[in-house]
Amino acid sequence: MKPLSLIFGFLLTANLALRADDAKPTPDKLTTCPVSGEKLDGDMGKPYVFIYQGQEVKLCCQNCKKDFDKDPNKFIVKIRTADAVPKK
Ligand SMILES: [Zn+2]
Repeated sequence: MKPLSLIFGFLLTANLALRADDAKPTPDKLTTCPVSGEKLDGDMGKPYVFIYQGQEVKLCCQNCKKDFDKDPNKFIVKIRTADAVPKK
């Protein structure tokens, strides 16, 4: 079993190295819609998710995208602030 675990170890390391290089969007950690304040994953069903300048944005519905587009930076700040605060 030793060679097998070696291969697994190598794959894991390679995977981590790949991930560091990957330009993945910053995840949106808000549990509410930054536009409407509605709960995500609530009664409204699946959140409306898109990427804005490398930042993942989750809105409660597609209608909120219109408001987001009016002042994207305001909402991006909200999402990034939530990301900076550790969960208790
Ligand atoms: Zn909405």
